[in-house]
Amino acid sequence: MLQPKAGYQNLKDSYLFFGISRKIEAYLNDYPGAHLYRMGIGDVSLPLCDAVIRALHQAVDDQASRDRFHGYMPECGAPFLREAIARFYQDRNIPVLADEVFVSSGASDELGDLLDLFEVSSTALIMEPAYPAYVDANIMAGRKIVYLTAGPENDFLPLPDDRLQADLIYICSPNNPTGAVCSRAHLQAWVDWANDRGAVIFFDAAYEAFVTEDLPRSIFEIPGAESCAIEICSLSKTAGFTGTRLGYTVIPRKLVRRGMNLREMWIRNRTTKTNGVSYILQRGGAAVFTPEGQEQIRRNIRIYQENARVMTEALARIGIRFWGGTNAPYIWMQCPDGIKSWPFFDLLLSRIQVIGTPGVGFGACGEGYFRLSSFGDPEDTKEAARRLVELLC
Ligand code: PLP
Repeated sequence: MLQPKAGYQNLKDSYLFFGISRKIEAYLNDYPGAHLYRMGIGDVSLPLCDAVIRALHQAVDDQASRDRFHGYMPECGAPFLREAIARFYQDRNIPVLADEVFVSSGASDELGDLLDLFEVSSTALIMEPAYPAYVDANIMAGRKIVYLTAGPENDFLPLPDDRLQADLIYICSPNNPTGAVCSRAHLQAWVDWANDRGAVIFFDAAYEAFVTEDLPRSIFEIPGAESCAIEICSLSKTAGFTGTRLGYTVIPRKLVRRGMNLREMWIRNRTTKTNGVSYILQRGGAAVFTPEGQEQIRRNIRIYQENARVMTEALARIGIRFWGGTNAPYIWMQCPDGIKSWPFFDLLLSRIQVIGTPGVGFGACGEGYFRLSSFGDPEDTKEAARRLVELLC
């Protein structure tokens, strides 16, 4: 009899966001119309910038014109967008070529799909607390996972050691959920480790645009990364594309394992399994990389950064230990007085109507922590910060 993929039976219930929405629903049943301060969301609240909207409209008009109409797009991405993204790297002295760039429908799609390149017998290394999709995509595939615990003892940035054994290494920097950002020395240690062992790093750079200090935004800033890393990027948080859907992946030509070139394998994969991202969206995406687009998305990012500043200032006033919030849109706070993540969620909801994300939802070692997001409305953020101070000071 047909055997469905057994890994699905090993998935834990995705309790985190379901649990949050159930508790909010119950609260609103008891207090209809109550205003909630949503500091839990990983979704953006500002609309797409004007440059993108104009490009999208223009592209719709192109599709209405016999001369400018586009049918199927190249599976790996339109040359105009691949070149714009390559230039975005080259302008920062990172030698990425257009044919090493793959346009995608978003980072989460890619993080799942890229696993196609590796035998299921390979082992994934995931540093927890982690973006839950890393874990679930590997469990679905039936792959063994090795967990490395991040905590205050390593500032949520664990380093490799000689005892570790794994083939696929997930690094997310700036990190969701902890807001921790890897230094160059830190990434160099992982790059050297991966090259020594023939491992491959999945570098999730979904939040690279939030780095403002002199810290790496791309793993390809690190010598040796071109022979061991794949970078997965997204326009979701950078440019507000969460609902529009667009991302990109960089696979260097030099990435070869057991004589097999991973970039060529990915071309074969994409040309078999996709028919490319829509012309309209790719035109909108290309507008992000114009000087005007960069200026406009930076303006939005600054609003989120100001939200993070307001929140971290409040936590500092209360005297709560936290990580992130600078160079990252997430703030990872220790729950006060040893309270666990879910009781702290309940306390904030019931007493001050502030919603965050319980840290335990990102792995067992997230127990006792809480994630606040800076993607919310600025006025709500200010009021949430005021309420936090009032409750916890
Ligand atoms: N990677 C990380 C670390 C994320 O936090 C998210 C979304 O929250 C994604 C990837 C998904 O990005 P996308 O919207 O491009 O699928």
